[in-house]
Amino acid sequence: MPNPRELPIYELESAIVEAVRAQGRLIVQAPTGSGKSTQIPQMLLRHGFLDGGEVVVLQPRRLATRMLAKRVAEEMETPLGDIVGYQIRLESRLSKHTKIRFVTEGILLRQMSFDATLSGVNVIVFDEFHERHLYGDISLARALQIQQSTRPDLKIIVMSATLDAGALKNYLSPCEVLVSQGRSFPVKIEYLQKTADFEREPVWDVAARECARVAAQSAGGDFLVFMPGAYEISRTVQALQGSRELRDFVVFPLHGELPPEAQDRAVARYDARKIIVSTNVAETSLTIDGVTVVIDCGLARVARFDPHRGINTLLIEKISVASADQRAGRAGRTAPGVCVRLWTEREHAQRPAQELPEVRRLDLAEVVLTLKASGIDDVAGFPWLEKPDAKGLERAEMLLEDLGAVARHEKDAHATITETGRRMLRFPVHPRYARMLLEADARGCVRPVAMMAALVQGRNFLLRGVPRAVEEAREDLLGEETESDFFLLMRAWRFADQNRYSMDACRRLGIHSMGARQVGPLFAEFLRIAEREGLDAGEKRVEGEAVSKCVLAGFSGQLAKRLDAGTLRCDLVHKRRGVLARESAMQRAPLFVAAEVSEVEGRGGEVNVLLSMATAVREPWLKELFPDAYFEATSVVYDESAKRVIAKRERRFRDLVLESRASADDVPYD
Ligand code: ADP
Repeated sequence: MPNPRELPIYELESAIVEAVRAQGRLIVQAPTGSGKSTQIPQMLLRHGFLDGGEVVVLQPRRLATRMLAKRVAEEMETPLGDIVGYQIRLESRLSKHTKIRFVTEGILLRQMSFDATLSGVNVIVFDEFHERHLYGDISLARALQIQQSTRPDLKIIVMSATLDAGALKNYLSPCEVLVSQGRSFPVKIEYLQKTADFEREPVWDVAARECARVAAQSAGGDFLVFMPGAYEISRTVQALQGSRELRDFVVFPLHGELPPEAQDRAVARYDARKIIVSTNVAETSLTIDGVTVVIDCGLARVARFDPHRGINTLLIEKISVASADQRAGRAGRTAPGVCVRLWTEREHAQRPAQELPEVRRLDLAEVVLTLKASGIDDVAGFPWLEKPDAKGLERAEMLLEDLGAVARHEKDAHATITETGRRMLRFPVHPRYARMLLEADARGCVRPVAMMAALVQGRNFLLRGVPRAVEEAREDLLGEETESDFFLLMRAWRFADQNRYSMDACRRLGIHSMGARQVGPLFAEFLRIAEREGLDAGEKRVEGEAVSKCVLAGFSGQLAKRLDAGTLRCDLVHKRRGVLARESAMQRAPLFVAAEVSEVEGRGGEVNVLLSMATAVREPWLKELFPDAYFEATSVVYDESAKRVIAKRERRFRDLVLESRASADDVPYD
């Protein structure tokens, strides 16, 4: 092991100690590999900051959390889980001696919701803060609140590989910023000459080809290939292992779903040259020494809120210039290096400079629920580092109310969390799907509901606006009779799966094969989560009706009633109007929920609300699922034409007056 004391961060040691002691707040900015994550906690220990308490180091990723703890324990020559430990969801290695505790961001937030004084915590370190994850932002805000109110002795250190420290410095003021330049070697960047078409030649084949080309020219050093996810990584590993030019290399995958031993193997030292195929965990969270060649596919899975679907999605997207630069930098840690980007220089100029912070691109429902669980009911008044827009917060609260996760009592100014809300928080999925899974557990249909969650996460793989011939082929194969567009999607996915995602078979039905391929791994992941949280995810026969009721539970805020049988126009809850999409199979259902609601601007500038991914709903279900929200009311009105007072019975689902127009349900009151 090279001497860690020679890492660049030690140039800042005395300044770090002094600043933490004087102000209790500090920002440290230094490139990846400088020694921030592994050395600063040890410095704190040596300088007495951890007497009678511990340092908690926040990490955005599980994989890095575990590996850093292991590394620091090795450096200190103590067993893992003793002085140095880690804690991630449902897995921990800790003891009562632990002084340095690496945790994922959600863990600390949870701890804060139980113990608002954070007793026993002397220092909190926010690592990789440049990634600006929602939970990092919120934990920092909470930590500052705690420091200002009950714990003036609590120390806060924010660390980052790249950072626009200006706004952060003001937010933490008074606070010093310490910068280290680190040490690195030049990296030569190469671009593709022609835009790659990954539908024609899969990205793993292109990456393997480039690896072989560079290997023929380069003298030594290891290779690091960036891929967006576990599936693409396993295909890349296969392609690399099949390449004759690369037979002298050992190839390792590296991502969070691998067992810990396999993760450790990827970063261990070998005599042979190696190729590591990794997700963006190797971008800044983990440093792998000895890499001189980076092959960057330019893609990553990005969490983003899709306002049409009202959920957070995890789609494969192009990375920003800042991310690409970080990735390239991995090739120049120990010697001059090369980075091959699998896109053209012209495309590069069109990429965004930086990723938007999550607080600006994710749906806030989950975070609002977490805050409410910590007793912060006035979420607009929360001291955000970057305030989300008021509409986003309002929409989040409304959704949580629809889901029954929070409730507003007359005497309270703000809604508070309910028992259902607390149960939902145990599921690390969007609150809509957490609610659906709870409902599914009660109705014995966890598997199909987990499948539905997987079907809608990725890109829509059942293409729309397809030619008539494709539509007919679809009707023949998938059938038309259905109670939900989800069921149709399920059949389409099964078809693609049975045909092994063959491009020809998929094209005939207008199925995007890459999109369909992503469903299987997601389904497995959702099942794992459900089982971990104690739901019964066993295989069993279930009625379509049970599944439809779960959709209703998750999307009740998007319940629609057709104005009359001859039209696609509908009334929607929350006093909106909409039109059912033509391609929906629910052309005749009088009452349904739409899992997708998109606003399209009409020619005259008016906003049309288009409803799709519909599931038919029967009226009695409303009463069954929402006994409190759904009620019958009798109001007395004067009927002008009859010249008499009549009692009008109204059925309301919250603010949706289902009989908003005269209907058979109007009963004269004699
Ligand atoms: P930073 O947080 O600034 O990115 P780290 O503290 O993570 O830096 O890493 C500092 C150095 O420690 C790395 O350059 C690497 O040499 C070594 N190192 C860190 N983690 C490991 C590990 N799991 N295995 C081997 N070496 C590691």
